[in-house]
Amino acid sequence: MRKIKKIAVLGSGIMGSRIACHFANIGVEVLLLDITPSELNESEKKKNLTLKDSAVKNRIANDSLLNTLKTKPSPIYKKSFASYITIGNLEDDLQKIKDCDWILEAIIEKLDVKKELFEKIDQFKSEGTIISSNTSGIPINLIAEGRSEDFKSNFCGTHFFNPPRYLQLLEIIPTKKTSSELVSFLMSYGENFLGKTTVLCKDTPAFIANRIGIFSIMKVLDSMKKFNLTIDEIDTLTGPIIGRPKSATFRTSDLVGLDTLIKVSKNLYDTLKNDEAHQIFKIPDFVARMEEKNWLGDKTKQGFYKKTVNEKGERKILTLDLNTFEYKSKQKVRFGLLGKARKTENIKERYQILTNSNETVSEFYKDVFYSLFSYVSNKITEISDDIYKIDDAMKTGFGWSLGPFEIWDTLGVENTLDDMQSYGIAPWVNTMVLNKFTSFYQTKKGIKQFYNCASQLYQDIPGQKQKITLTNLTKSNIVWNNSGCSLYDIGDGILNLEFHTKMNTMGSEVLQGIQQSISITEKDFSGLVIANEAQNFSAGANLAIILMYAAEQEFDEIDLMIQQFQNTTTRARFSSIPVVVAPRGLTLGGGCELTLHADYVQAAAETYIGLVEFGVGLIPAGGGTKELVLRVSDSIKQGDVELNNLYNAFLNIGTAKVATSAHEAKDLHILRKQDGISINLNLQISDAKRECLRLVRTNYTKPSIRKDVRAQGKTALSLFLTGIDGMLNGNYISKYDAKIATKLAYVMCGGDLSSPTNVSEQYFLDLEREAFLSLCGEQKTLQRIEHMLKTGKPLRN
Ligand code: NAD
Repeated sequence: MRKIKKIAVLGSGIMGSRIACHFANIGVEVLLLDITPSELNESEKKKNLTLKDSAVKNRIANDSLLNTLKTKPSPIYKKSFASYITIGNLEDDLQKIKDCDWILEAIIEKLDVKKELFEKIDQFKSEGTIISSNTSGIPINLIAEGRSEDFKSNFCGTHFFNPPRYLQLLEIIPTKKTSSELVSFLMSYGENFLGKTTVLCKDTPAFIANRIGIFSIMKVLDSMKKFNLTIDEIDTLTGPIIGRPKSATFRTSDLVGLDTLIKVSKNLYDTLKNDEAHQIFKIPDFVARMEEKNWLGDKTKQGFYKKTVNEKGERKILTLDLNTFEYKSKQKVRFGLLGKARKTENIKERYQILTNSNETVSEFYKDVFYSLFSYVSNKITEISDDIYKIDDAMKTGFGWSLGPFEIWDTLGVENTLDDMQSYGIAPWVNTMVLNKFTSFYQTKKGIKQFYNCASQLYQDIPGQKQKITLTNLTKSNIVWNNSGCSLYDIGDGILNLEFHTKMNTMGSEVLQGIQQSISITEKDFSGLVIANEAQNFSAGANLAIILMYAAEQEFDEIDLMIQQFQNTTTRARFSSIPVVVAPRGLTLGGGCELTLHADYVQAAAETYIGLVEFGVGLIPAGGGTKELVLRVSDSIKQGDVELNNLYNAFLNIGTAKVATSAHEAKDLHILRKQDGISINLNLQISDAKRECLRLVRTNYTKPSIRKDVRAQGKTALSLFLTGIDGMLNGNYISKYDAKIATKLAYVMCGGDLSSPTNVSEQYFLDLEREAFLSLCGEQKTLQRIEHMLKTGKPLRN
């Protein structure tokens, strides 16, 4: 059985340095090598260094890594993980690859340069070592030409997407000589260790995601001209409204660089002379003109958009007008149909609304989608035998919420057949419909099946047995539900509660759902998992309701609400069954407080969790402040410095700090050392269920309420207040920040007790509640909440 303990990443550019970071994220040792510089830079000259000094020879890899570590969003789960990476150069250190289990090449996209490097690798590598290339366009079999038999059987393409930490797709491209054992190893290693969706590709130009993704972008450009639409209009039509990234078409191009789009398109145009999309891959005139002017996007400071600052210092984003080739103010996009579509959050319903009218918008969408459906249907078997691989690649490589065949199912295969004939459909689709198979996918007993055009039958999508996917479950799995959440039976005595409110905010229906789920589990089941399949676990408490009550001075209602919140988190902790919470994505405020009270947390590696109440003029009062004090109090027993730790926790709440990964959350005491981390989002619920079962099987017993939480009292409080004064005097915080901070300090120190005293959890909960209520009576808090609801951003007043 292969084990990856050490990897050599060759090439430390955009991809190499980020891939290195992602391996460091999972605790693999990395040797990161790059070429040596051909001349000294100014600072090296000043230090009298020569081209032979190792500091100079390693400079390219060293600088690349340092710059990458500074980028945002960070390529690494936490900074200290960078210590897994050692840098070096290809001249002196290449022989070190003999100790590596995997050699991954990510150097410039030139076949001769890659081949030259692989020839050297063939000399130094140990037998059986995995060798792979991250090329996005060069045929894998060409790279392997001339290499040893051992090399060839252990070599394939491993195509990561940028940024590798965040984009889930990993394409695996074997050659005819690659051993099948290696392919299955990489498919499974990618899923289970790197957290990727691995898609097995054929060695065809641009593999799957870029082939279809670039086709789709180029087709949008083509239809834009046909329907006389503008850049602002296209970005509105091709973004979140259809479940695609906010950066849509043109903003994405600016971010990635127009030169990359041009390079891949040109490559496809040159290599696919007989492809039905040959003309679509041709660079349109306006793109060629932009290339000439070096308007490539962010890297050249202008592209389809340009950021400007006027004399008053106001920032404005201008859009390129393709008729005049001048930048103009962004235009508001007004299409009635979009308003109608936005009324539903259900992306499938949106697709139906958007394609079902006589307006230009519908004609545009139909032209784009029908061309896409036609193309993907015709690319089965050329680029992939199975339709789900194309959908998986587009969802995880390009961030689409539905893949092409899934969109087609949404619009109805039969419904669209007549309209689509002029676009040219592959014959197998007609056969499928003739044989009364009316969709590309179906779900049977919780297992998603795809239509296999070779066998002309539905077949299970592989790898689902180990995953729990709530959307594949049926009504019969629902044990209980209300308007805000559903409780599913996920087998073996374990239930799963899922929220489905807007942004998964936690209002009374969700709180009631949690309590009810615990009662049902206590009565008839063994354990409860609280997990959502949405991108974000929860944006926190429902602020709109708090604002409404506060504005009407209904303080009794607010008091009841906080009590309900505290009772719910307390119930999660002190029920007779294990409660496992599985946060992912944004897990803020109340969502974080619920997580803090779980018996066990199975967090996604990509969890952005924090107590952010301060930003809306409040303090955590669902037990969050109490829980952090309790954790600090416990860490003191393990010999940590008391006040420093408490003060750090105070600063984290006071600055509304959000951890940028589950690993970082452990450092902030929000997750405990023993809590689990799932690197693969698709496996998180099954991981959480496994941990819940483990607690059940190890005779979970209800914890007892703690009466030994350390309240530091007066001395600590006066130190905290001095800190607040210092921040105020140094203009780091506003007067109102200081007021909230003073209340927070009072709660965290347990009031002004004359000496440190052990108190009960309830003591802190009461202090939290009082502080929260008093802040709800403050105008400035209401302004903060209102601003957050309107803009999604905190107001510092
Ligand atoms: P890059 O230009 O950022 O980095 C290329 C690296 O190759 C540099 O560090 C450079 O020093 C090194 N290099 C230059 N000449 C060399 C030589 N003669 N021998 C050895 N190394 C040399 O490129 P990148 O974007 O990181 O791309 C690297 C590979 O990954 C390419 O094959 C590319 O097609 C592929 N890829 C790129 C992306 C992307 O979005 N950038 C995505 C997927 C795949």
